[in-house]
Amino acid sequence: MEMKVVKFGGSSLADANQFRRVASIVKADPARRYVVASAPGKRFSDDVKVTDMLYNCYEMVRHGKDIGEYYQQICERYNSIIADLGLDFDISGELEYIRNAIEHYSGRDFAASRGEYLNSLILAKYLKFDFIDAESVIYFRENGTFDEEKTNTVMREELKKHQYAVIPGFYGVMPNGTIKTFSRGGSDITGSIVSRAAEAELYENWTDVSGCLMADPRIVENPLPIKTITYRELRELSYMGASVLHEDAIFPVRYAGIPINIRNTNDPSAPGTMIVSATSEYDSEHVITGVAGRRGFSVINIEKDMMNSEIGFGRRVLDVLEDNDISFEHLPSGVDTMSVIVSSAYLKDEFKKERILTSINKRVHPDSIVIEDGLALLAVVGRGMVKAKGTAARVFAAISNAGINIRMIDQGSSELNIIIGVEEHDLEKALTAIYKEFVK
Ligand code: ASP
Repeated sequence: MEMKVVKFGGSSLADANQFRRVASIVKADPARRYVVASAPGKRFSDDVKVTDMLYNCYEMVRHGKDIGEYYQQICERYNSIIADLGLDFDISGELEYIRNAIEHYSGRDFAASRGEYLNSLILAKYLKFDFIDAESVIYFRENGTFDEEKTNTVMREELKKHQYAVIPGFYGVMPNGTIKTFSRGGSDITGSIVSRAAEAELYENWTDVSGCLMADPRIVENPLPIKTITYRELRELSYMGASVLHEDAIFPVRYAGIPINIRNTNDPSAPGTMIVSATSEYDSEHVITGVAGRRGFSVINIEKDMMNSEIGFGRRVLDVLEDNDISFEHLPSGVDTMSVIVSSAYLKDEFKKERILTSINKRVHPDSIVIEDGLALLAVVGRGMVKAKGTAARVFAAISNAGINIRMIDQGSSELNIIIGVEEHDLEKALTAIYKEFVK
């Protein structure tokens, strides 16, 4: 029998109405056997997510404040979901236990994780599915890293015992039995882990947007949705700021070759975006799959006559960066010039900046070295670019016709992406120009 793992984000489970939508989606397809749930998210734009409220409770206790009244608001959120759904379910004992535990310093991660724990209990009851606590199937190592093999083995066995189940997202257990969470947005990772263990045909990730878009809708008006995207393309775009999925959520399913389908709980008939590994079955519709960009980069420009014949020049420069714990983004070079592009965040500290300049001066004795801030990088991503001739020309023409100066160009050897550096204030204009060039 076909099997799908479905994960619902916080806004999809924010109140009873959303629970109803979720139930009708799950029940519409018997293959949707394992459901991963987030904590209740925002019901309206300035609402507060339950996870944030739980973090606040933890902080209040740490500062010796009473959480009684504030915690009551969390109880009300859950109790109103239960009451509105008409469920005969009493979680007052659970709520009481959790408040007590938070008040007795049970830890920051424990507090945060209870959002998904309680929501999943309620959802399991509502769907009449079994409940599998993540703490019995998701394991971290002593050093805090995720233990994928142990998790996969234990979870696979556990899932076999349940035909239909709800599993809370976001957390697992440390070897000493304490709760640990993934980073924020981590229920996406749980969904991916469950998909791998269940050997699912598909991982459906239900959220509040109709999939990935070809460009940021805050910059480009009504960008088209992306029907299919490869894991690698998604990595490139997410790195440049396009976010729809936690970036670590890709690895477990990618490893197992399971596609991810991003879907919209509020528009269930929309096909959403398929994230796949192979490209062959899914031809891209446009030459480019998407375009995204990010501000906040700096360039270290180094010049020295005869640099090209000086063996080890590049290594010595990069050694200085390594000694200062800096990773670099790009490394365009000329015969006598080398530019290193790094995130400006590394160079915020003037003292550190000076130290780096001094060390590079000492190590390679350049004729000149300057750091320029204010660079934005944009990535034009598309598996279709390998086959299409003249894509780079079209990208550059679009940018230059918009009156924008290009400060850097880099194309990965896989021809999957073209990276362009522009002044920060030109970023939005450049993104729009490229999008318009390829999507008519
Ligand atoms: N509830 C957690 C958060 O707000 C995890 C998640 O929703 O994925 O980050």
